[in-house]
Formats: sequence, structure tokens, C-alpha cells
Amino acid sequence: METINALTIDISKNEWHNQKGFFKREVPMPVLDEKHNTKDAASVIVKVMYAGICGSDRGMWYRNAFTELFHSALEKEHKSMRIVGHEFVGEVVGAGSLVNELYGIKVGDPVSGDSHITCGKCFQCRIGEQETCQDQAIMGISIDGIFGEYVKIPAKNLWVVDFNRVRPEVCAMYDPFGNAVHALTRVDVRGVRIAIFGCGQIGLFSILLARQFGAAKVIAIDVNKDNVDMALELGAHEGIVIKPADKANPYDIDREVIDKVKELTYGKGVDVSMEMAGFNSSVNNCIEATRFGGQVILFGIKDGDFIIPKFSKMVVKGITLHNIIGRQIFRTWQIAQRVLSDRKNGVQDKMWDIIMRGGNGPVIKFSEFSHELMEEKMKQYPKLLFDMQS
Ligand SMILES: [Zn+2]
Ligand SMILES: [Zn+2]
Repeated sequence: METINALTIDISKNEWHNQKGFFKREVPMPVLDEKHNTKDAASVIVKVMYAGICGSDRGMWYRNAFTELFHSALEKEHKSMRIVGHEFVGEVVGAGSLVNELYGIKVGDPVSGDSHITCGKCFQCRIGEQETCQDQAIMGISIDGIFGEYVKIPAKNLWVVDFNRVRPEVCAMYDPFGNAVHALTRVDVRGVRIAIFGCGQIGLFSILLARQFGAAKVIAIDVNKDNVDMALELGAHEGIVIKPADKANPYDIDREVIDKVKELTYGKGVDVSMEMAGFNSSVNNCIEATRFGGQVILFGIKDGDFIIPKFSKMVVKGITLHNIIGRQIFRTWQIAQRVLSDRKNGVQDKMWDIIMRGGNGPVIKFSEFSHELMEEKMKQYPKLLFDMQS
């Protein structure tokens, strides 16, 4: 049997509970077998060129996100091993018999694609709100993912890309960039003051987009000074380094930071705040930093229960909470493509030159993957990519 290399977690080897990290293994080469699996008629085999490592991969690496979903999905499939990863760009090298007829996609096409595989049948899917599909699978978490040299993907999830418009490495980041597009198109950010709590990759993308979509003032907040500096370089108007949350009181707000945000907004608080870090304190900082009648966008999910003290105060302030999951398929993708293709707005170049340092450091050769290298790189850079074919 032909095999490929992939990054995995095997729960039969206790790799979830007793060990952190991903494990490189030889797994069977994915094949299209329409006789035994009718869905393969509408699936493709993609040779992965670049794969993005995102915040949820970090959460899985350290075992502090998606614990329940990861286990329940494996149980349902009667499997113990999962291939991880969900952000990709690659080339279609095999296509089921219906792929071209249904989706206009063919062998040789360069593609990225959405990591959420929606059911197509539930109420939300039928009314065009697939992002809230009640029966969706997420690549690399609840079904096998894309940290492999070749992967099988339903063609309906693919987004054909054009390397003349967006460079391949940036195409591999459509999925997380799309999260930021989704978040920043949920509320109207024209002319608003916005605070972004958490400047990891999607927080940083959000800064680029907030500027692009016309926010009047962007305040970037992170525990890591390097990330705050990068946020300022990307166009944030103000940067604040915040202390890590108090472990004894994980939901306490940071009064100093709130006061600073108030000062920067002439006493009002921001119109919009975005929770991109996933900490309980960060959710409460968002609520506290937002003006009466303002909006809070929640995105940085982590496992566990969160506490909102003085809940009624949030209600009385008239704050609206928005939960962002995935991307609107494919409305978000269309907007992302337009923003990235416009070379005059600088967004694509800033992503590549500043966040990805022109590929020097944040791009890891898949053949050189090791636990130590990954931990070192995750500490060093907000966003990483695997070069899967070298
Ligand atoms: Zn991601
Ligand atoms: Zn559905």
C-alpha cells in the first residue's frame, strides 16, 4: 500500500492526555474509490503545497482546545487516530467523476478551501447560512485534516485560487484570514473605534482589515510586546501591552488597560471590541472596554466555563455580543480574495513581509518537522506555515 507522511494524534497511544504535540506518521495515501464510497464522486485528491498552523492547532498542540469534539468524533468513527491541520493550498491531482460537472473544478487547478464541511441538509444550510450548520465537521478536529502530503477533500469546499493575484503562501491563509473578514463584516466598522484583545495571527489580520474597512481608531492589545509592535507596524493606531491574566482570578478585568482604552476614546470606551485571545479575563475586558450600546465580537474560543461578573451591567449597558464561527461560504472568501488581490491596499504584502517575514523563519519545511522546532517557532512567530513538499 502506498503511504504518505502526515501529522497525527493517536488517542490509543494516550497522545491526547499524556503528551502534547503532533506526531509524524506514515498513513495510507488517500484514494478515490467511487465503487465503495459514493461521496468520492464529488471529492478530490489535493497535493498540499503549503499548510497553515493556526491558533486552534496551537490549542490542540497544548491540549487546551477542542478536547470534547476531538474525542467524540473519533469515537463516532470508531477510530483512534486523527490527521490534524485545516489551512491549505495545493493542486488538484485527482477528481471524482462528478467534480467537474458539479463544481467546475478539474485536475491541475490550484485550490484552497474551507475547513468546515457542512451538511447541506439542515435548516441553516438550506437557507444559505452554512457557517452555523448544526452538523458540520471541522478538518483536523472532527474529521481528518490536511497536514499530509496528499489529502482527500469534498470538492464543494474548494476555492480555486490564482497565484498571479495572491501568492501561494498567502493562499494557504485564506481560512484564518476569512475568520477575520467574517468578524469584521459582522458589524459595521466604518468610522468606529475598535479594540482588538489578542494579536495572534487572526488578531493581526483583523487590524489590517479594520484599517481597510475604514475604522477610525484601532487599538491593539496583547501580552506579548513583539505582537503589539507588529500590530503597530501593520497599522494599529495605538498599542497596549497587557499583563497575563491572574491565575487565581482568571475572570478579573485589567483596570489599568480599561482606563487606558477609556482615555484613548475620550472617556467613552470603544464602539467595538474583539476577543481574539480566548481567555475569560479577555472576554470581560472586552465588555468593560466597550461603550454603552457597543458591540463585542467573540472569536478566541478555548475549553472550559467562562464567568461574566455583574452580568446585568452588560445588559444595562445595552452591549451586543456576536459569536463568530468559521466563514460565510463563500461570501467571506469572495471578500477576502478582493482585499488580497488589490495590491494597492498593501494588505497582502503586509501579511507576507511583516507577519510572515517574507518566509524567513515562519515557513517550516515539512521534512524538518520536530517537536522542538515547532515549540521554538510557535514561541517566536504569530503565524507559521508548513512547506509540505520540501
Ligand atoms: Zn485555522
Ligand atoms: Zn447543515
